[in-house]
Amino acid sequence: MKSKVRYTIIIPVYNEEDVIRETYRRLTLVMQSLCEPYELLFVNDGSEDRTAEIIEVLAETDDSVRLLNFSRNFGHQIAITAGMDYARGDAIVIIDADLQDPPELIPRMIEKWQEGYEVVYARRVQRKGETLFKKWTASLFYRTLRMMTEVDIPLDTGDFRLIDRKVCDVMHGIREKSRFIRGLISWIGFRQAAIEYIREERFAGKTKYPLKKMLRLAIDGITSFSHKPLKLATYLGLALSLPSFAYLVFSLGLKIFTAGTISGGRWLITLLLLLNGVNFILLGILGEYIGRIYDETKDRPLYILRNKQEAENLLVRRG
Ligand code: UDP
Ligand code: MG
Repeated sequence: MKSKVRYTIIIPVYNEEDVIRETYRRLTLVMQSLCEPYELLFVNDGSEDRTAEIIEVLAETDDSVRLLNFSRNFGHQIAITAGMDYARGDAIVIIDADLQDPPELIPRMIEKWQEGYEVVYARRVQRKGETLFKKWTASLFYRTLRMMTEVDIPLDTGDFRLIDRKVCDVMHGIREKSRFIRGLISWIGFRQAAIEYIREERFAGKTKYPLKKMLRLAIDGITSFSHKPLKLATYLGLALSLPSFAYLVFSLGLKIFTAGTISGGRWLITLLLLLNGVNFILLGILGEYIGRIYDETKDRPLYILRNKQEAENLLVRRG
């Protein structure tokens, strides 16, 4: 039976007891104004506070509230993944629980979706109430990521976005462990559109992304979409060995063709640098192969069809 739910809102929550009621209230206001069946799918990522109980109470009086409980804290990206696995809607919106992503933007996303875009992401043109450090590191991260990867991952864009059922179904087949959802969604492709917004302050409570988790996310983002770090050794190796090789040739020339000479110490240093450089280059070559092994183990599909059904019908007719 086809599900009757039109929209699914995925809300990952980790120790959000101070904000959850307000989030529920604002989301409900927005979603009811759309007059179509929806579900609020909360994914409780192993909260240690009263988050789960509060959601359970909400679910008692509101059938659109659903709750998934993790056995422990698995992390934001995994929580979103679980949400996508259990979402029943035709369009799925991922939103943070802390109201930094205003729910009032959802109708605008839905409008774009109805125009035919399969992914509508929200780009932050301004961030309020966050430390300079967070803004700078975030900005640096998005730009580094862009420089390093071939996938077109939009700048200053978090996980706040709408995805079509089709994109969600493709995500079901992508089971790699270190996940960087926004990168994966860009990689999946389809028609993507952006809307812009001002990122609000957190409604209450503290960030659940301490520096350590932020770093983890940044490293996951870069390593799962780029081999460049593995190639670093090659570049370093070239930078070391080329000049030392040139210097070696120069000193040999000096010795053979002129009366001049260089000291034993210098010979040694140049030779050491040269050998080290060669070492690095060899490491870089290993890196190239490891990168390929890594790609294979990720087991992403080679391509994704925009419209699977259409393609299959075509095959049947031709066959
Ligand atoms: N979150 C989660 N698991 C975690 C950390 C965060 O589910 O381990 C949720 C959190 O409850 C919130 C969203 O992910 O809904 C974003 O987290 P937060 O607002 O703390 O991050 P920030 O906006 O500070 O980057
Ligand atoms: Mg936040």
